[in-house]
Amino acid sequence: MTSNISQSYPYSRESETERAAAVAAAIAANAGLEATIASEAVPLDAGDAWWTYHHGGCGGTLHVAGYALDRHAVYVVCDRCGKTALR
Ligand SMILES: [Zn+2]
Repeated sequence: MTSNISQSYPYSRESETERAAAVAAAIAANAGLEATIASEAVPLDAGDAWWTYHHGGCGGTLHVAGYALDRHAVYVVCDRCGKTALR
């Protein structure tokens, strides 16, 4: 097994309410994050439950914030450091 500090893996599930609150909190805590998400992701379809992922780089949790522009991946944002990534 390889070690990678930026590795992330499926972690848990959360409700739409929890997801929206976590993304809103990340946006509130990280200047410019909302614009970054708006330029790099498209809005989610309606859903009731979403995966979250552990962000090994900082110990935070990555929450789904949208889809990749090509819709072939989910776009996630970290609730601790504000990093964005595709999963
Ligand atoms: Zn993080």
